[in-house]
Amino acid sequence: MEKAALSTLLLRWYQENGRDLPWRVKDGAHHNPYAVLVSEIMLQQTTVATVVPYFERFMEKFPTIQSLAQASIEEIYKYWQGLGYYARARSLLATAQIIAKQGWPQTLKEALSLKGLGTYTAASFLALAFNLPKTVVDGNVIRIISRLYHLTEPVKEILPKIHKLAEDIADKDHPADYASAIMDLGALICTPKNPQCLLCPWQKHCQSFGKKDIEEIPLLKRQKKIEKKGFVYLIFNPKGEVFIRKRTEKGLLSGLWEFPWDDTSTIRPNAKKTDKSVTHIFTHIKLTLQICICQSNTAPTEGVFVAPASLSGYPMSTLMKKIIKTANI
Ligand code: SF4
Repeated sequence: MEKAALSTLLLRWYQENGRDLPWRVKDGAHHNPYAVLVSEIMLQQTTVATVVPYFERFMEKFPTIQSLAQASIEEIYKYWQGLGYYARARSLLATAQIIAKQGWPQTLKEALSLKGLGTYTAASFLALAFNLPKTVVDGNVIRIISRLYHLTEPVKEILPKIHKLAEDIADKDHPADYASAIMDLGALICTPKNPQCLLCPWQKHCQSFGKKDIEEIPLLKRQKKIEKKGFVYLIFNPKGEVFIRKRTEKGLLSGLWEFPWDDTSTIRPNAKKTDKSVTHIFTHIKLTLQICICQSNTAPTEGVFVAPASLSGYPMSTLMKKIIKTANI
């Protein structure tokens, strides 16, 4: 495959189809590196559509790197609120103060020494702001390169290979446009689901085009859920009240009320298993608890007995609510 042909096709497609965004121009570097810097930091963990109005308000209030460098963090927060990840606002202020004194970074090393710029954003910033030939590799680029070369191995194991291929085909004469173009290709055409291959400028060269596994590429190894099993105890007193306790303030489900439960294979003494169980999926854990019944005359110290009808007055997790429903109490 002719590498120069790939970049020519992509740049041509970008001229006609690339997104018009307030922090970018077509045809070389943006005239204002400050606009590129603000956008790069705002775009971390946030979508383009969300960022655009925030970016416009921010640039109106802080139009230059000097105006931002002199602002207080409280003032900046007012224009950041709603965008989330406030550490980015603090990093942007610290970086603006350094640049206002020392000037703009011109190398990857200089850019990476600034707060808020990681490997991807530093490369993207240098390409878009100064037209420097830096290879930008984010999730979009990983997906496109993996599909273009039909790389089916787990991404984690072939990242250096993906970087090398991305670097090989990048256009060294038009770095700003090329970086924007490949990002737009990933955002608009080579999307994770339903890629628009028929509209893709690289379709004729793409080794995955026409294959049934496009949406499986790249192979992102999913974290396997840990399976845990245990018992949950419905402890009743002679009045028919059931025992609940409040979880400690740290960790999973902290501060909520619950029936006592353990994720061990040993059932507590005097507890009787029922044939009912409940399964709940947490982020990385699949927990199955078998419901057990106990009788107790004494009130345990770390919780309270409450009438089943009053349980709704105690904040509980979805897991506990499932247990109430399944046990029918
Ligand atoms: S042809 Fe399809 S899979 Fe290949 S790069 Fe283009 S959009 Fe992605």
